[in-house]
Amino acid sequence: MIDTTYSTETLRQLVRINSVNPSLSADGPGEKEIARFICRELREMNIETEFDEFAPGRVNVTGIIRGRKSGTGTARSLMLNAHMDTVGITGMENPFSGEIRDGKLFGRGSYDMKGSIAAILAAARAVMDQKIRLDGDLLLTFVADEEYKSIGATHLMKKIRTNAAVVTEPTGLDVCLAHRGMGVFKITTRGRTAHGGKHKLGIDANAMMGRILAEVGNLSGEISRRKEHPLCGAGSVHVPLVRGGRSLFIYANECVAHVELRTLPGETEQTVREDLQQILVKLKQEDPMFDAALETVIWQSPYEIDRSASIVKMAEEAVSMVLQEPPKYIGHTWWEDSAIFGEAGIETVILGPDGGGIHEEVEWVALESVHQLSRILLRLAERCCGSAVSQNT
Ligand SMILES: [Zn+2]
Repeated sequence: MIDTTYSTETLRQLVRINSVNPSLSADGPGEKEIARFICRELREMNIETEFDEFAPGRVNVTGIIRGRKSGTGTARSLMLNAHMDTVGITGMENPFSGEIRDGKLFGRGSYDMKGSIAAILAAARAVMDQKIRLDGDLLLTFVADEEYKSIGATHLMKKIRTNAAVVTEPTGLDVCLAHRGMGVFKITTRGRTAHGGKHKLGIDANAMMGRILAEVGNLSGEISRRKEHPLCGAGSVHVPLVRGGRSLFIYANECVAHVELRTLPGETEQTVREDLQQILVKLKQEDPMFDAALETVIWQSPYEIDRSASIVKMAEEAVSMVLQEPPKYIGHTWWEDSAIFGEAGIETVILGPDGGGIHEEVEWVALESVHQLSRILLRLAERCCGSAVSQNT
């Protein structure tokens, strides 16, 4: 049994706490306050809790419900995970309202992913209140910075390991088995500064970049035709930022572009970087004055879990039981922390609530899906960790 009044009220309070990622918005406060709130909730349930401020203002929270066979290696451990940070609030009318209308709760982060935090807390509360004795450990992890560089999930993997994990990013209660990776590369072209009238001296770094951008455009078409993943579709590339030149009447000495690639399961930094390097090599062959450098800024691997993995089977069973129909299997075209947990050897599925307006101006989560998620997570924890209701209740 899930206390739906508790999860609705908790979600409303979570949305009212501003946890905008400071790396995305200069005035974003980060996770400290929301982490304090989550810690308080967990401690009130008598769950062993760690508040880990691993960098100034950046916090992970971990709650551990120890199983009866904890540490013996004879029971499976499970991690339920959500990130606490959100993207910025530009253009939003009332970002921290937590207002409820027609079964939807509104506000920044309601869908991505405070609804999931509330669902995890409500499931944990059910375990504690109903004295459900799990065999293996159940870890509740709330991490920082998923929306930027995932320093929270990376830090978490230095400290803990479980057999399985559920990343509760939004899936509409479908089971997500794969997602694309992400690489951001910086390309810098170098020209020579000169008076705009001295064309024999000046070398235009912006025009050089133009040639690169045209090639990236061609690459985009090529990537979209090259390979198709059954759940994630094709890869893609685009150029979110270009900055070059100093002023009118001066030849641009430098131009910098950031190129963003979304990669498919199986692709590595090496193979993806090669695509960009080839463009630079080709342009250099065409023009000896061409001068450009390539640098990796962000690399996050793609992720995929086999459909036959035991956590996938258990997720299917839990969803089928709660929703009275089997889940759909889906892939996400964006990146998530699951890749970091998967790389650390944890069998991970992605399973979260239903809603809309992710990273947009009107964001909402369907409350009923938050409650359903709680029920699914509770069932999954019992199934994965092994359980029996305590005799002395
Ligand atoms: Zn998210």
